[in-house]
Amino acid sequence: MAWRSSSSTNAGLIANLSKNGLIQSSRVKEAMLKVDRAHYAPRNPYDDHPQPIGHRATISAPHMHANACESLLEYLHPGARVLDIGSGSGYLTAVLANLVGPQGKVVGIDHIEPLVQLAEGNMAKSDEGKRMLAEGQVRFVKGDGRKGWKEDAPYDVIHVGAAAAEHHKDLEEQLKAPGRMFVPVEEDWAQHIYVVDKNEKGEVVKKKLYGVQYVPLTDAPAG
Ligand code: SAH
Repeated sequence: MAWRSSSSTNAGLIANLSKNGLIQSSRVKEAMLKVDRAHYAPRNPYDDHPQPIGHRATISAPHMHANACESLLEYLHPGARVLDIGSGSGYLTAVLANLVGPQGKVVGIDHIEPLVQLAEGNMAKSDEGKRMLAEGQVRFVKGDGRKGWKEDAPYDVIHVGAAAAEHHKDLEEQLKAPGRMFVPVEEDWAQHIYVVDKNEKGEVVKKKLYGVQYVPLTDAPAG
C-alpha cells in the first residue's frame, strides 16, 4: 500500500500517510510536517519509496520513517536523548529532534564521512535546522554505529536505520532503563524489525515485528 501515500507536496504526503493509517498520532504528524523531505531526498521527495542518496545509501521510505516514530513515540518525550544510527540523509534525525524538542538531544551517527556532511548540509537548508545544529539539539558524528556512541549515552531511544547482523550488546547497554530501541535485524537471510525494550529494572525484552528490506549495517568501506 506504500505507493498510495505518494504525493506532489510534503503536506500531501503526510496527509496521505495519515489517511492510510501509517501515521497515527498528531505528534508524529506535526513533527513530519515541519521537515520538508525535498531538503533530504534529491529526486521524487514526496514518493512513498526509498530513494538513493549516494554511497550505496538510501533515504528510507516515508512510511518506514513514520512507523519508526510511532513505535518509539512513548519514549520520545520532550527532553529525551536519542541516538539515530545510520543517519544517512539526516531526515529522520530532524523529525526525531522535533519530537524531543529544544530540551532534547539527538545524535545522528554514520560511518561514511560525506554522508555525515550531507546530513548536516541538508539540515542547514532550513532556519529551524540551522538553529538545531547551532544549539546542539542535533549533532552528526562519524563512527561505527554497531558500537553505539558512548559519549552521550544512555539514550531513551535508539533508532537503527540499517539492518544489523546480530543484536549488538553495546547498543543494549547504551539504552536507558527504561528505554526503547527500533532495529532491523537480519537472521536466516531475512530481515525483521525488532523493538527492544529495557524496563526500569534493566531487564530487556525483544519483540519481533514485521519483515523489511534495509541496507546492511556493515564495516566502513575501505579508503
Ligand atoms: N535513516 C537513513 C537511512 C540511511 S541508509 C535515512 O533515511 O536517510 C543506512 C545508512 O546506514 C547509510 O547511510 C550507511 O552509510 C549507514 N551505515 C551502514 N553501516 C553503518 C555502520 N556500521 N555505522 C554507522 N552507519 C552505518
